[in-house]
Amino acid sequence: MTQYDYDLFVIGAGSGGVRASRISANHGARVGVCEDRDMGGTCVNVGCIPKKLLSYSASFGHGFEDATGYGWECAANKFSWPDLIRNKDVEIARIAGVYRMLMESAGVKVYDARGSLIDAHTVALSTGEQVTAERILIATGGWPKVPEIPGKELAITSNEAFHLPELPKRVLIAGGGYIAVEFAGIFDGLGSKVTLVHRGVAILTAFDHELGQHLMHEMYEHGIEAHLHSVITRLDKVDGGIRATCNDGKTHEVDCVLYATGRAPLTHGMGLEALGVALDADGAIIVDEDDRTNVPSIYAIGDVTNQLNLTPVATAKGHALADRLYAGGNRHVSLENVATAIFSSPPIGTVGLSEEQAIERGIAIHVFKQTFRPLKHRLSMRNQQTFMKLIVDSATDKVLGCHVIGDDAAEMLQGFAVAITAGATKAMFDQTIGIHPTSAEEFVTMRTPVRVQP
Ligand SMILES: Cc1cc2nc3c(=O)[nH]c(=O)nc-3n(C[C@H](O)[C@H](O)[C@H](O)COP(=O)(O)OP(=O)(O)OC[C@H]3O[C@@H](n4cnc5c(N)ncnc54)[C@H](O)[C@@H]3O)c2cc1C
Repeated sequence: MTQYDYDLFVIGAGSGGVRASRISANHGARVGVCEDRDMGGTCVNVGCIPKKLLSYSASFGHGFEDATGYGWECAANKFSWPDLIRNKDVEIARIAGVYRMLMESAGVKVYDARGSLIDAHTVALSTGEQVTAERILIATGGWPKVPEIPGKELAITSNEAFHLPELPKRVLIAGGGYIAVEFAGIFDGLGSKVTLVHRGVAILTAFDHELGQHLMHEMYEHGIEAHLHSVITRLDKVDGGIRATCNDGKTHEVDCVLYATGRAPLTHGMGLEALGVALDADGAIIVDEDDRTNVPSIYAIGDVTNQLNLTPVATAKGHALADRLYAGGNRHVSLENVATAIFSSPPIGTVGLSEEQAIERGIAIHVFKQTFRPLKHRLSMRNQQTFMKLIVDSATDKVLGCHVIGDDAAEMLQGFAVAITAGATKAMFDQTIGIHPTSAEEFVTMRTPVRVQP
């Protein structure tokens, strides 16, 4: 027996914490985990899953319009937000239950409590208990940031958006990242009047810039009003709603203001500073390539390390860490070529380098792209274009980046992510016979580069 209660104690049962606990226990480690909110963390409760369910619901809104061109007559559709939220909550509870069951059946002891560090091997729980562990893993995730402006308490974040009592008729969204544009698409599809304000010159600047430009155009087509270079300076309660005043002199009267202006790592109030755990300027835990902090018995994974804040990255990191610690593994997770999707309307799928990143790295590239109206929208008459882009290394012919905005983009990209991870060349793409008739086949039929950089 060791001197500790556990071999591993995990703080936070989100995507990363659940996977690390369960796999470590499967390898024979004695594992405890504490969770102070909802089992499954952000992804399950206020992130990927409920967002995707709401996004499915929103897609019916435009789907009914599109159906007319296909011979369907869709009478005035009645939408019930409370029904959607109730059904979504049932599904979330089911998934959270599965997470708990998987952990408990692997032998993990689950504490429904908040955890904070007393020393390098001891965690204090909000229940009053103390537990000791040879190793402690911090997987506490992140939390939405709202700027300090007068009236900020009138605004909500993504956390609250999933629990609104009713669908707001007019929504103002602040932000230009993926969460902002996803909620813009969701509320628009469900019938709200959506306005987006963003302080930057463009939206989605973390991705290939042409994706953001194209989405901006599609949002206008949907009737979403977007204002760039615009920052909310104050919020006031007015008769029948909220008035947002912006630095560009414009005011917007709406029923709901949603801030999607970034997330901060959840590291405060956990005793990290007192223990000397190194944090970066944004409050993220600094870890080495083994996910270890500067305190040797303390590890961290997931959004709290602010590396690549995605669920599959947090789970992959948790799994690899458990394998290394308790199964003699030596696997590390590469953050190169991680495919991701944005469930905007239309959605985006992206993997590998953007044109801007390739140029920044000094790589000479050939750029291939294609814009077209997909077959589906020939009859629906929706003025929606699909945009696809390949970034190819001029010297090696390797495909470095693959980007698409259009229907089914997210589903389309997973297979291409495998090809890019395997080092596929443009010649291999050209050799591949397309699936017809699909939009995806355009990825293997782009013959002539539109640009050569530099
Ligand atoms: C609106 C939204 C949409 C998203 N959509 C996607 C998507 O489509 N695809 C994707 O890959 N990613 C998406 N993400 C990101 C994804 O949710 C996160 O990257 C992922 O959840 C990170 O996992 P994690 O384990 O690091 O943290 P989390 O899942 O946030 O889990 C951390 C857990 O720790 C708990 N905790 C915090 N402090 C303590 C404490 N002191 N004691 C005990 N427990 C504590 C929290 O309650 C939480 O349950 C989305 C995020 C948001 C907000």
